[in-house]
Amino acid sequence: MTLLEVSGLRVTYPQGFRRPDFNAVNGVDLEIGEGETIGLVGESGSGKSTIGNAVLGLAPVSGGSIRFDGKDISKAKPRQRRLLSEHMQVVFQDPYGSLNPSRTIGQTLAEPLRVHRDLSPTATRSEVSAMLERVGLRDSDAQRYPAAFSGGQRQRIAVARALMVRPKLVVCDEAVSALDLSTQAQVLNLLKDLQAEMGMSILFISHDLAVVRYMSSRIVVLYRGEVMERGTTRDIYASPTHPYTQKLVAAAPIPDPDRRTMQT
Ligand code: ADP
Ligand code: MG
Repeated sequence: MTLLEVSGLRVTYPQGFRRPDFNAVNGVDLEIGEGETIGLVGESGSGKSTIGNAVLGLAPVSGGSIRFDGKDISKAKPRQRRLLSEHMQVVFQDPYGSLNPSRTIGQTLAEPLRVHRDLSPTATRSEVSAMLERVGLRDSDAQRYPAAFSGGQRQRIAVARALMVRPKLVVCDEAVSALDLSTQAQVLNLLKDLQAEMGMSILFISHDLAVVRYMSSRIVVLYRGEVMERGTTRDIYASPTHPYTQKLVAAAPIPDPDRRTMQT
């Protein structure tokens, strides 16, 4: 079953007085099945985040459609968006920016439950501590603030927050790009394990083809707001057909020892 179907998506940004609008995304098609991970790869500025943001309702859709669970959500109103956020969550690159520094981790993880579930304080606490443990943190970490954690730990917290309400889709936008290689591998493996348990679909966005390859069954290659190539990860790697993809594959680093631990 298809969970997310993006067809002919266009996102146009105004550029100011007497300058033509800028087409950041220009007719992109993309499909994600239930429980599947699709990799969206391309150089910086190619429109990857814009696509993720359009799916999340954070970028203006000027053409095409976004269907989620069979419904067109491209023009969803704020109220419908709030309901959708139960099924659609996001992990951004910089959890320092997205985790509220003045809230404890426990408060941050309880928030999605407060919005979407009607649980007693005791039940909420036990859900939070189960999730903390699940992502490799301790129960007592609920009392601490984001500043007390390392980058990798903060990204585990961002993953935990995204999964509190068991969403159907998680958009990961450069979710491990700020981490060193061995921490990247740990967080990627955590995501894979959680996906195996919970069955969510992932739109996995990164400029790093090696990371995208490790996570995705299928890859979409983006260049200047348009899809250059798409296919199974295996096919794209074995025989990239588009010159841009060939360059991307050639530029992907030769596996070093840290990378090798990612290749199970
Ligand atoms: P990527 O995630 O692939 O690096 P983005 O989707 O962030 O690319 O950006 C694609 C293009 O759209 C870039 O040229 C960027 O400068 C532009 N852009 C992104 N967001 C906005 C915005 N809110 N207003 C104007 N231009 C934007
Ligand atoms: Mg981006």
